[in-house]
Amino acid sequence: MPLNGEKVVDKQTNFIRDIVDRDNETGKYERRVHTRFPPEPNGYLHIGHAKSICLNFGIAADYQGLCNLRFDDTNPCKEEVEYVDSIREDVRWLGFDWADREFYASDYFEQLYGYAEALIKKGKAYVCDLTAEQIREYRGTLTAPGKNSLYRDRSSEENLDLFRRMRAGEFADGSRVLRAKIDMASPNLNMRDPVMYRILHAAHHRSGDAWCIYPMYDFTHGICDSIEKITHSICTLEFENHRPLYDWFIEELGIYHPQQIEFARLNLSYTVLSKRKLLALVQGNHVSGWNDPRMPTISGLRRRGYTPEAIRKFCDLIGVAKFNSVIEMSVLENSLREDLNKRAARAMAVLRPLKVIIDNYPQDKDEILAAVNNPEDAAMGTRPVPFSRELYIERDDFREDPPKKFFRLAPGREVRLRYAYFITCTRVVKDEQTGEVVELHCTYDPATRGGDAPDGRKVKATLHWVSARHALDAEVRLYDNLFLKENPNETENNADFTVNLNPHSLEVIAHAKLEPGLAAAASGHNFQFERLGYFCVDSVDSIPGKLVFNRTASLRDTWAKVEKTAND
Ligand code: ATP
Ligand code: MG
Repeated sequence: MPLNGEKVVDKQTNFIRDIVDRDNETGKYERRVHTRFPPEPNGYLHIGHAKSICLNFGIAADYQGLCNLRFDDTNPCKEEVEYVDSIREDVRWLGFDWADREFYASDYFEQLYGYAEALIKKGKAYVCDLTAEQIREYRGTLTAPGKNSLYRDRSSEENLDLFRRMRAGEFADGSRVLRAKIDMASPNLNMRDPVMYRILHAAHHRSGDAWCIYPMYDFTHGICDSIEKITHSICTLEFENHRPLYDWFIEELGIYHPQQIEFARLNLSYTVLSKRKLLALVQGNHVSGWNDPRMPTISGLRRRGYTPEAIRKFCDLIGVAKFNSVIEMSVLENSLREDLNKRAARAMAVLRPLKVIIDNYPQDKDEILAAVNNPEDAAMGTRPVPFSRELYIERDDFREDPPKKFFRLAPGREVRLRYAYFITCTRVVKDEQTGEVVELHCTYDPATRGGDAPDGRKVKATLHWVSARHALDAEVRLYDNLFLKENPNETENNADFTVNLNPHSLEVIAHAKLEPGLAAAASGHNFQFERLGYFCVDSVDSIPGKLVFNRTASLRDTWAKVEKTAND
């Protein structure tokens, strides 16, 4: 396919696409469009990264361009192969393909080292022996200029000799650094002789022990974009004031110059989007791991039951802007509902079972009724659901003493069992000691098979149910927001953000009852449990014989709306 920058998909425009359009018009990059997604492999990806992934891969796809996957792996102490693998899996799962363009900053270490020497030779970089603390002190503040290091005027020869000896391992960690020689009085703190290399006798997950000096992110990032001939280096707003530094390196070295473009990062209510904080949740055992279904990580959302389509749709919907804002969690959930409503097969499950005995139904009879798999999609057909004398309904669906607007089952009242019959409650059996309702006796009207009365009489509620004899036992996990506060970072007295964790974010229902067809449900598969919400088979803990389902999201679709009036 020719890489001619011609727009092949006409998406809603945004300021980044406008820049790409303009560059294509002026031929700034010979109409090439080449982006990259540059994660640091120091944690699992989260929904914020998904925004960046959709943007970078999306723009490349829409302009017949290319998008690289590049790991910015410059910090051996925090990076691990496990993270690299998870990132590859997550990007692929989201539906994007980087073909053979998987790169690593560590693959450029030799080249980066060469550029560092070139800057030293030009008198634009020097080896500095100040301690980390002194460097901070000399740096000045936003209002006060910094102070030159006493090592700033070393000769190129001495700098080159020291830098080579740094590489050779002659010096201890932290004893020296290589710094760019720019301007200690610059109003931009990033320009005050930033550190380019540090000594770190640590093994790297890819380069092993080959290096004991490592380039800093700020020296590495822009140069890697240049090496890969990236046209539009898209990053989040906090890098706006790093751009002059990246430009400085590129101009001093006289190498290819990509255009950095900044956009607002995604913030989501009731959660945190920072790998550092997510790691703290994992390490503090506040969650079961990076893929805990309550985590805003891609792997957590996947395990929770989110689909790649729903996440991509969400990213399209929120768009990109130049100012920071917070998106409501409900926007993400609505993207999911919209996707699953169309695709998820319906099933019946009872979370808090109450036994119903149909006294006029034959003891040993069984019959198979047809249930619609998806009212949104006739092609999904129907499935067989067994019916028998003893059933479970939801405990909530019965009230002995129903309030005014409660239309569901109550003594003497008739309701519909979905896809089955009309039943009328005739007797309530209670535990003598506790007074708790333990079972209901009902009668059914055989003429209402399938759920409609031939005489046209109406009922005000339709309940879901499962046949007791056929039911599967399952554990069902219900999730709520991980944090109690819309902004979990808001704490009093500088307390840690974990004080805002929601102690009730996970509720385990140990003995739910499911319709028997769900025994064959594949790992990760999505369902809509009628009237309850979207659920999926837990991909980690569910095994044949011990089913575990996660609630992905509560329900709010058309049927729920019809029911709502009846249920309130
Ligand atoms: P974190 O703060 O979670 O550690 P990061 O920016 O340090 O995030 P990187 O691995 O460096 O994580 O990010 C890779 C890419 O994803 C970068 O281009 C970054 O700008 C982008 N990105 C990270 N977080 C978000 C977010 N919340 N919204 C949009 N893009 C993001
Ligand atoms: Mg980062």
